[in-house]
Amino acid sequence: MLPPMGDNVVVSNMELERLLSMKGGKGEGSYVNNSQAQAMHAKSMLHLLKETLDRVELEDSRENPFVVVDLGCSCGSNTINVVDVMIKHIMKRYEGLGLEPPEFSAFFSDLPSNDFNTLFQLLPPMANYGVSMEECLAAKNHRSYFAAGVPGSFYRRLFPARSINVFHSAFSLHWLSQVPEAVTEKSSSAYNKGRVFIHGADESTANAYKKQFQSDLAGFLRSRSVEMKRGGSMFLVCLGRTSVDPTDQGGAGILFGTHFQDAWDDLVRQGLISSEKRDTFNIPVYAPSLQDFKEVVEADGSFAIDKLEVFKGGSPLVVEQPDDPSQVGKALVNTCRSVSGVLVDAHIGDKLSEELFLRVEQRGTCHGKELLEQLQFFHIVASLSFVE
Ligand code: SAH
Repeated sequence: MLPPMGDNVVVSNMELERLLSMKGGKGEGSYVNNSQAQAMHAKSMLHLLKETLDRVELEDSRENPFVVVDLGCSCGSNTINVVDVMIKHIMKRYEGLGLEPPEFSAFFSDLPSNDFNTLFQLLPPMANYGVSMEECLAAKNHRSYFAAGVPGSFYRRLFPARSINVFHSAFSLHWLSQVPEAVTEKSSSAYNKGRVFIHGADESTANAYKKQFQSDLAGFLRSRSVEMKRGGSMFLVCLGRTSVDPTDQGGAGILFGTHFQDAWDDLVRQGLISSEKRDTFNIPVYAPSLQDFKEVVEADGSFAIDKLEVFKGGSPLVVEQPDDPSQVGKALVNTCRSVSGVLVDAHIGDKLSEELFLRVEQRGTCHGKELLEQLQFFHIVASLSFVE
C-alpha cells in the first residue's frame, strides 16, 4: 500500500541549512560509498592544489599552529585524504627551507546535519606528537595534526579573524544557501512550473538561481577575507558549466534535469503526488560559468586570482562493467540519492522517495549507454591569494 499524497509543506529556506547533508552512514546510498568519482576528480587536480599551497606564506615561528580548513567536508574519506596531502606538502616546504615546522591544526567543516560521527570514526589516530616531525611523518596511517569539526554554513563566519592559513573546498560551493523564494512562489514569473531543477527551465527561474549563487559566493568570500591570515590562500572547486546560458547546467543538468525529472513526472502522472508538490521541490544547486564566478571574486576585491579555469572532471558514475546497463542504472540512482536523498525524503517522505528513486534507476538502466557518454562533469577551479 502506498501512502496518500504528501501534504504540501515546502521545506522553508532556513530549514535547508538545518536539513541539507549528503546521505550519512555507510549504506549503499551513502556518500561514503558513492564519492569515488569526487575522489578521482580531486586526484586529477592535485597539481593545482599543490601550486596553490606553494604560494602560501610560511611563518618562521613555532608559536602559532599552521591551520588548514576543509569547507563542505562531508563524511567520506575524501576530506581526510586532501587534508593529509595539504599538511604533508606544507611540511615538506618547511623542511625544504630548513625551517622547523610548526604544529598543524585541521578543521573539518560542514552543515550541522553532516554525519560528523562517521567522519570522526574514519580519522586515523593521532601520531605521537611531541616526538620529532620526522617520526610523526614516518608513522604510517597516523595523522600529524590536531583535528576538530566545525558545524555551520560557509556562507557566514565560522572562525575567528586572522586565524586560518589555507582554506580548501571541493564540490560544495554549487550548493545554494536556499532555493530563491521567487522560484517557489506561484505568483512569481520565476516560479519553476513543471520542473525540479533549472536545467531547461525559464530564463527568469535560472536568473533567480544565478543571483542567489552570486550573493552566496559574495558572503563566502566576505567571511573568508576576515578569517584568513595574511599570506594565506584558498583552493576552491565546484561544479561549473561551459555554456553561457544558465538554463543549460551541463552535467548537473543531466543528473537532475533528465531521468530524475522524468521520475518526478511519473509520480505526478500516476497520481502519487500532486503537480504542485513536484513544482515546489527544487534542487538547490547552481553550476556557474567562469564569468558568473569571476564577477563575484572581482567585486569582492580581497583575493587575487592566481588561477580560475574550467576543468573537465569526467563522469560521476563509477561502474565496473560499463556494458551492463543495470550497473549504470544503479550507479545513477546511488549518485543521485547520496546527494539529494535527504532533501527528497523531507519533501515527500521515505516511502514516496523510495518510489521516486526506483524510477530513476529504471530509467537510468534503459538509457545506460548514452548516460555514460553524456553525463560528464565540468568543474570551476579557483586558486585565490588573500590580498586584504
Ligand atoms: N568535499 C567533499 C564533499 C562534497 S559534498 C568531497 O570532496 O567529497 C558537498 C558538501 O557540501 C556536503 O557535505 C554539504 O553538506 C556541504 N554543504 C553544502 N552547503 C553548505 C553550506 N552552506 N555550508 C557548509 N557546507 C555545505
